Amino acid sequence: MPKPEAKINSGRLKALLGGINTFGLNAETGGFNRVGFSDADMAVRQWFCDQMRADGLDVSMDSVGNLFGRMGPQGGPCIMAGSHLDTVPEGGAFDGALGAAVALECARSIRDAGMNLKTPLVVAATSEEEGRFGGMLGSQAISGQIADGWLESAADADGVLLSDAMRAQGFEPSCAGEAAWKPGSIKAFLELHIEQGPVLEGEKLAVGVVEGISGILVLGVRFEGIANHSGTTPMNMRADAFVGLAEVGSSIAGIIERAGTEQSRVTVGKVELSPNFPHTIAGSSEFTIIIRDTSESVMKSLRREIETSIASAAAHNNLKVKIEARSFLPPQTLDLNIREAFLAEAEALGLSHRVMPSGAGHDAQTMQAFCPAGLIFVPSRNGVSHAPQEWTDWADIEKGAQLMLNTIVRLAGASD
Ligand SMILES: [Zn+2]
Repeated sequence: MPKPEAKINSGRLKALLGGINTFGLNAETGGFNRVGFSDADMAVRQWFCDQMRADGLDVSMDSVGNLFGRMGPQGGPCIMAGSHLDTVPEGGAFDGALGAAVALECARSIRDAGMNLKTPLVVAATSEEEGRFGGMLGSQAISGQIADGWLESAADADGVLLSDAMRAQGFEPSCAGEAAWKPGSIKAFLELHIEQGPVLEGEKLAVGVVEGISGILVLGVRFEGIANHSGTTPMNMRADAFVGLAEVGSSIAGIIERAGTEQSRVTVGKVELSPNFPHTIAGSSEFTIIIRDTSESVMKSLRREIETSIASAAAHNNLKVKIEARSFLPPQTLDLNIREAFLAEAEALGLSHRVMPSGAGHDAQTMQAFCPAGLIFVPSRNGVSHAPQEWTDWADIEKGAQLMLNTIVRLAGASD
């Protein structure tokens, strides 16, 4: 008998994504607002639960709001596939939601093909990935990586405590640890996500197989100079904290040329000048520098060069300086066997593809510290994401979804 073949039903997938995106839509802007633990986030989770239950999956929600729908044999380690359902404020229609929808569509296609998986498949929709409270809460909870005490102190940009936001939605923060899965209970974590960058579109490729995810180092820098009159203070007698900041900013391109790679990203994203008044020389400047690369040693060299640049800008401009490392997430190389499974299935499907890094963080990165994890990208039009203009062509989505489906079946093993 020929092997049964499971095929993605593109219309059904489109309807599922459309269903998810009835939640949190701002009709005026076209943006989606399902930030972690908001009412819209909870409502979409309930709806997604109902969908999975109607499909006959064994559905559960854990103590931090992660959703799971299990199919296949009872017990034993599973293949987990999915992504997040929360969005950034005014986010797009595809970020996260597409990966969760594709995972459920894969389960539906496997069921429709009459396949019996040898390994259970768990469809996952993770919680608070986007970072209202820091991000990756769901995958950190599954993989037992929530730091002690963090949950009680984390707050969003408006000062709302994560613990209060959780309690308001019926979760007990002190039970978050119960969400951790046992070591060995997840054989592989697979995620499909939009690229959120311009590479695949630029190279006219259908899918990207991610090899590694950039690490993130956040530095906080403070230059202390002397606030003084902008008219009476001669240029050579100033301690101008803005000029120090500007010198550091303009040194970044050269630093990347010397010490960086094609994957290096260095960003001064937030700046505060004081007193921030047109007629006064800046007495202090405070800014963040974020360093990203897929290699930890490259990140270290970039950091050294940047600290040297900061020190010399301080010396030039008679400034005192303070640098603090606020957070560090190491780069993560994703599982090689899963990458090879994705590549073999992409070849078999005749999909144009490449291996590529990810500059953005994803649940797969968090999960890799706990179990083998893999991530594929589908193209983002104009590289736009976290905005209502976010778009991926359905022809590409169908290809990426079929690749996910075939890889699940390959890793899980199936008989008819
Ligand atoms: Zn995302």
